[in-house]
Amino acid sequence: MTAHQLILKQRAELLAVLCGGGSVEPLDCVLDLLLAWEILVWEDYLSIRVAEKPLCSNVRQLLDVVYDKGEVACSLFLAAMNQVLPEEQKAGLCFGKECAVVGKNRPDTATLTLLTDRPVLVRQLRDNIDGALNALLTTGCFTIKDCDAVQLPVYTPSQQVRRLLDQARFKGETAAKTLLQYLEQTETTRPNPEDEENHFSANCLLYQKKLRSSVAAQSHSLSTYGGTGRFSLDDIYTDGLLEVTDGSSETLTLGLEDVVGPLGTLNEDADTVLVSGEAGSGKSTLLQRLHLLWAREALLTNTFLLFPFSCRKLNAEHRELSLKELLFLHCCWPDRGQDEVFQFILDHPNLVLFTFDGLDEFKQGFTDEERHCCPTKQVPIPILLFNLLQGTLMKGVTKVVTSRPQAVGPSLKRYLHKEVLLKGFSPGGIDCFVKKHHSDPAMARRVIESLQANMVLLSLCHIPVFCWIVTKCHQELLGGQDGIPQTITDVYLLVLQHFFLRKSPQPQGVLGKAWLEEHLDTVLKLGQLALEGLEASCYVFSGYELQRNGLTEQDVSLGFLIYCNDLSVTDCKRYEFLHITLQCLFAAFYVVLNRNSDRSAVSRLFQPQYRQLSGLSQRCLGHCIDSSVEEVESRVIETLNLQITAQFVSGLLSQRHHNLLLECCPTAVRERKVKQVVKSLSKGMQRHFKSIPRPVEGEKKSMHAMPSFVWLIKCIYEMQDNSIAQDTMAKLDVEHLKLTYCNIGPVECTALAYVLKYLRNPVGLQLDNNSVGDVGAEQLLPCLHICHSLYLRNNNISDEGIRKLLEKGMKCESFQKIALFNNNLTDACTQHFALLLKSKQNFLSLRLGNNNITSQGAEQLAEGLSYNQSLQFLGLWGNKIGDRGAEALAAALKNSTPLIWLSLVDNAVGSAGACALAELISQSKTLEELWLNKNCISRDGVECLIEALKMNSSVKEVWLRGNNLSPEEEEELSKQESRLTF
Ligand code: ADP
Repeated sequence: MTAHQLILKQRAELLAVLCGGGSVEPLDCVLDLLLAWEILVWEDYLSIRVAEKPLCSNVRQLLDVVYDKGEVACSLFLAAMNQVLPEEQKAGLCFGKECAVVGKNRPDTATLTLLTDRPVLVRQLRDNIDGALNALLTTGCFTIKDCDAVQLPVYTPSQQVRRLLDQARFKGETAAKTLLQYLEQTETTRPNPEDEENHFSANCLLYQKKLRSSVAAQSHSLSTYGGTGRFSLDDIYTDGLLEVTDGSSETLTLGLEDVVGPLGTLNEDADTVLVSGEAGSGKSTLLQRLHLLWAREALLTNTFLLFPFSCRKLNAEHRELSLKELLFLHCCWPDRGQDEVFQFILDHPNLVLFTFDGLDEFKQGFTDEERHCCPTKQVPIPILLFNLLQGTLMKGVTKVVTSRPQAVGPSLKRYLHKEVLLKGFSPGGIDCFVKKHHSDPAMARRVIESLQANMVLLSLCHIPVFCWIVTKCHQELLGGQDGIPQTITDVYLLVLQHFFLRKSPQPQGVLGKAWLEEHLDTVLKLGQLALEGLEASCYVFSGYELQRNGLTEQDVSLGFLIYCNDLSVTDCKRYEFLHITLQCLFAAFYVVLNRNSDRSAVSRLFQPQYRQLSGLSQRCLGHCIDSSVEEVESRVIETLNLQITAQFVSGLLSQRHHNLLLECCPTAVRERKVKQVVKSLSKGMQRHFKSIPRPVEGEKKSMHAMPSFVWLIKCIYEMQDNSIAQDTMAKLDVEHLKLTYCNIGPVECTALAYVLKYLRNPVGLQLDNNSVGDVGAEQLLPCLHICHSLYLRNNNISDEGIRKLLEKGMKCESFQKIALFNNNLTDACTQHFALLLKSKQNFLSLRLGNNNITSQGAEQLAEGLSYNQSLQFLGLWGNKIGDRGAEALAAALKNSTPLIWLSLVDNAVGSAGACALAELISQSKTLEELWLNKNCISRDGVECLIEALKMNSSVKEVWLRGNNLSPEEEEELSKQESRLTF
């Protein structure tokens, strides 16, 4: 088959692999190669890589362009794909005959070299962007503005390099030459890794080999697929959303390769990188991926030795150990030259990396009270671990630690090099995961369709562990026996059914309605083990403990408990629950179904300070409990796990699962427990409401939610009882509800909307700096009618999410303000705002700063504004509306009577735009503030503004900092008009 035909035939698959992970990096790498090989010219590149368009339309355009260029272009495109795609994504694709890239003469200009060497340069410059920009700045080839444009935080390092290369080419030969010279210099001064390798002794190399192969074996497959042998990590790993906030609180998106790296550094002196995310967001899996790629030399290539640790397993280490013992006992022993290898580690901290998975599960909370710096002295594990994290011991070794965010307190934060947030799957990631899970594309399609049809389920799938359950239980899901799952409990019940079904005598059969009753004994035994474990921060169990709880081989074979996958050599088998959330589910079953539990078990679970260890758990899990119970009590994480448990208890006791529990729990007992849950939830909410301060005069009555507020809301949602939601909300009386930085994703939005829709009076709902996304935005619709203002700054929302939000918002009388600073909005959404402005004559405030709106979008907005008579605040800071956009807005706003505040900061507005705005000033009777900082307005423009201000008395300030004016001009002009601020 010709390359031409191959592209046509595999179009859908090529599209899928280039768009699948949601990252543009594979596409960019292919484009780099095609530019270098001169298959694409610059105009082609510009027509393909359009930032405003979705990734898949960029890829389609590339396929079309290459296809039109003929057979040679097609075969080189396939060669580029072959080079760029990781092995696991190549399966099933055919790349045609090997085709050699014809060697061309070296280009004779530096600008051309930047193009022909582009793939190599992107790699070389990734870690040297600052240095390169410095070189260009000091030689005068680049201005500060050029540097800022390259280093915009929305771009990944590779994208920044590409912008740097493009900018240098546009600047011309001198800039290109400077850049190449800079690279030449850094290459010659950088130590050659091969030279270094020659210095590694045979024993060190041997140990590296052994460690690599143990780490590879340990990280090859995912425990959630344990036993089935169906998937390797390569087959199923899907990139999650990784973010860091830099010092200026801007959010940057990261690739896996950036987890260890300079991006997002908070503290240069610290060596610990924290990866934080909620339970099930994929932290362990991410570490596992890092381990595997290191073992294969595909990532972290500067790391000579990587030592992976699991904190839950370290809990079971009761001996005092030296650093050397920790490394070699818990990872692997060098076969030869132990002292030499250890000395090498001490001498080369920069070549060593430690990872600690699940710091939140470590029994003892972090403290930096006891200092220890001797690598050979034996000390208790917590001291060893905490001193490693602080850098007292092994300064310079990079440590990557994972944890749930709530469990990281200020004492540890001081020692963090940076904090990377793992936010689960993007919508594209969910599709990609489902496709990887189901090799049959028709089945994958059905699952994706069923998700699209159930937004609640789709919102759950942003959290990888739910995504795993939903795909794993697709049969139960698509069979839809018990209705469509709505709650987290519904979804987890699917897993239970799935596992029981797998072991039932008729493998293809359906579980009877009484499945829980049939398996009650096992569920209770697992439940007891789970609850006792949670209460004692114990997540790993010995065979002896299983036996003591009456768990048999058969119970274990159901698959909820798995063997610990461990590098260390231990003489007994140890077990853990498949995932911490499953441990919580079984604990919840125990709380609900155990007839012997004391009557206050339910209420205690809902008390925030519940950390009482039951006598039983002390007896059975003695080894897990340290001598100092106070330390155990101080652990936040038990509370978090018990909160998840409480959420499941709420779900299990909901009316939806009444029939399931019917034969397992006497009705009277069930009803008593339901009452206890309802009472606890109501009390919990009351505590929050009581914390609402009296409003200061002139300010709104406002509630800043405490962390457990969202948890209580989620419990109410699990109960699926409107009357509970209604009763609770009837007592909340605030005008503003602030839930910023609360880890609110789509799942939380579903619960929030379910409960908040019953508020008596409209509120301002402030959800800034969360991960709402398009799916979350849609989940908020049921409560939009009760929001007079919606603040969604920095929430990863795109045009599609906004379309749905505004469609509903238009019909909501109370809805008057929206703030969407720093999302992914483009011109495609402005028509919806225009419609909103036209149809809602009570809309007050629209803030769209830091999005991607150009002059076209501004023109569309202007169209809507020309019909609007209510808008008072319009913010477009940090878009690209230019003169044309400013002119259109100014013309439309001239007729707007009430406008008070307008910001067009950083929008490439020049003097023409300023003159148009001057007309607005001369006619407006209401405008008070006009913000025009960081534009390119020159003297003419400012003079127009001054003229207009002579006729205007309402304007108080016009901000003009950072425009095209010399200091002398600024001084002179500000003398002419005092309301101008330069
Ligand atoms: P956490 O450590 O944050 O609790 P895990 O890494 O244990 O979460 O993830 C739970 C499950 O979700 C995994 O066992 C796996 O099945 C699935 N999962 C998580 N992250 C990914 C990923 N990036 N790709 C594929 N599956 C994932």
